[in-house]
Amino acid sequence: MTDTRTLRVLEPASGVFAYYDGRVPGLRLHSAAPNWLDDGAYSLGIASYSVVDGSEAIVFDSHISLDHARAVRSHLEGLGVNRITLVLSHWHDDHVAGNAVFSDGPIIAHRQTRNALAANRDKLESGDPPISPLVLPTEIFDDSLMLTVGTRTVEAVHFAIHSADGVVLRLTDAGLLLAGDVVEDTITFISEAEHTPEHIAELGRLAALPFRHILPAHGAPERIAGGGYDVGIINANRNYLRRLLAGEGRDGTPLSAFVAEDVAAGRIGYFEPYEAVHQANLKALAAAGL
Ligand SMILES: [Zn+2]
Repeated sequence: MTDTRTLRVLEPASGVFAYYDGRVPGLRLHSAAPNWLDDGAYSLGIASYSVVDGSEAIVFDSHISLDHARAVRSHLEGLGVNRITLVLSHWHDDHVAGNAVFSDGPIIAHRQTRNALAANRDKLESGDPPISPLVLPTEIFDDSLMLTVGTRTVEAVHFAIHSADGVVLRLTDAGLLLAGDVVEDTITFISEAEHTPEHIAELGRLAALPFRHILPAHGAPERIAGGGYDVGIINANRNYLRRLLAGEGRDGTPLSAFVAEDVAAGRIGYFEPYEAVHQANLKALAAAGL
């Protein structure tokens, strides 16, 4: 059993729900030892999302455990939803752990997401905590895919940011972008350091899309509950990566000072656990020779 008592349901826009857990001071969910659930998700805060219209819903990411996924599902069933399509933002553990709970409906993902899940099945199923059973996508796409939920249209679009298989959802009727991990508040997590120049270019392509609000998987709950971020978070994440590639930040400057201008301008907030992400990012770039 995974505790879901700190999971909160937010509604950043009409018919769009965020299932937010974590960012609870002093609390860990899985164990005191380093593990992906606490250190990669719960301590930073994590949300999966749903888009609901009538009896249909799209769920964007299946959350960090089967119990979290069950909580999402029962919230939707409580609203009268009986047809759920799961869409995955990318293949990382904190976004796919609950897939099995939605396995009676379509599970849609980018081709590279399916390939990465298949290639990493043993690692994911024997992780700490294990993702077992790991359920793979049933439908795949490459560049983009139009979906409907009730009378609403949702477009899944591929962006190679954070990981090569990144996917965002565009809800043009609401001016919304569900971002997965392509942006984060406070900073992006560098998981494929060698592709950082491409991630920077892709963030530029993302920033050019027309939208009013952007909802990341890892951000501040107050900001998400209030409707989300604006294009400033994309520019802040992009600028952060550019500065790292230019060699800045390697002098021991803490993240709080490194991103102070973006925080003061309200483009991002500041959350102390991202200091460790910043240190890991610097190490990852150095290891990649960047
Ligand atoms: Zn994540």
